[in-house]
Amino acid sequence: MEKQMQAAAGQSSGVFAECELGSGFDEEFFLLNFGTRLLTAFTNREILIDIALETLADFSQGTRIAIMSLDEQCKTLEVDGVFYQNQSIRLDLSVPVEGTVLGKWLSQKMVGVAPLILEGEVPLPAESGQAGEDQCLCLPLVGSSLRAVGLVTIEIPADRCFGFFETQQLRVLSTALAVSLENAKLFSKVIHDSLTNLYTRRFYEIRVEEELAKLRRNSGHLSLILFDLDQFKNVNDSFGHLTGDEVLRQFAALMLDHVRKGSTLISRYGGEEFILLMPDARVEEALHMAERIVSLCASHEFGDGRRKIRITVSGGVAFTDHTQSISATDLFERADQALYEAKHKGRNCVVVWHNQNAPYRI
Ligand code: GH3
Ligand code: MG
Ligand code: MG
Repeated sequence: MEKQMQAAAGQSSGVFAECELGSGFDEEFFLLNFGTRLLTAFTNREILIDIALETLADFSQGTRIAIMSLDEQCKTLEVDGVFYQNQSIRLDLSVPVEGTVLGKWLSQKMVGVAPLILEGEVPLPAESGQAGEDQCLCLPLVGSSLRAVGLVTIEIPADRCFGFFETQQLRVLSTALAVSLENAKLFSKVIHDSLTNLYTRRFYEIRVEEELAKLRRNSGHLSLILFDLDQFKNVNDSFGHLTGDEVLRQFAALMLDHVRKGSTLISRYGGEEFILLMPDARVEEALHMAERIVSLCASHEFGDGRRKIRITVSGGVAFTDHTQSISATDLFERADQALYEAKHKGRNCVVVWHNQNAPYRI
């Protein structure tokens, strides 16, 4: 963090231009400002947890830092991450707090509540699952409801104590962390479809623009697959909408299981229509992927536990590269035309978009 901080100091201008670290410049406030900015710069929860652990470790010099989430009944803390021996680790661990001093402290309304210092029996998860033996500063992560939604614990040796300013700094950081964690949760809700947990159409629209912008700067390829479940209305009519919903969830899971993680973005475009955005993929790769999903879908047994349901899906593939200047709407239009053809060919198949004047051959 030190290097990033000095780089930021170097960028100061105007009224701060003459300030230098350590000379009439309040380094502590500079650091605190930098730390809070770091903690509010991320919307991905996992990245945020890592950044927060490192930042809190830098500020507190604690021997072990943990960030935990509290359930609504204030019974259990789930460990989100631990910073220990200079590295950030994930532990699949929960700490029961019901009926404990910590549990009672966490369940109060958190207005102006001072941090809690626990000695012995410290609820600090270690890799071995043992509790720490030193003292521990507990800082609540206070949500917008003014209730604790989580906890930061900082273990320090029994003979060390935090000064007033140090404690206040850590309180500011944990406030920023709580706000960021709430934002990350909201952001995740906005970009994920509640039924299938795939990305939303809006998120796809943002990402496709980003990928097209990349193609304007660098050479590369971009492919798109548009899927539409075949005669899906019949599923609803025959089995009811709830079963229809279950089939949509299962089709989403089937796609998620079979795409390259991290590179293909799958989103629910609308009702029973889905889009796969494949950055860096050539048309051949997209066609291969589309045909694989079509064939997997046709052989998959969908169902709601009581009944087995068979469905098929049709796909349209569109593609572009850095030599073309194409809008997101045009790219989608191509995939839509290809999908339309696939439906007309009898469904349960894939068509690759081709220019009517110059038929495309793979
Ligand atoms: P085609 O092969 O031509 O695509 O036929 P289709 O029946 O799939 O197409 P159509 O557009 O006529 O019907 C789509 C159906 O998808 C109708 C609608 O009720 C259903 N649907 C859309 N969204 C949802 C949803 O969230 N849940 C359920 N259960 N059904 C949905
Ligand atoms: Mg449709
Ligand atoms: Mg359909």
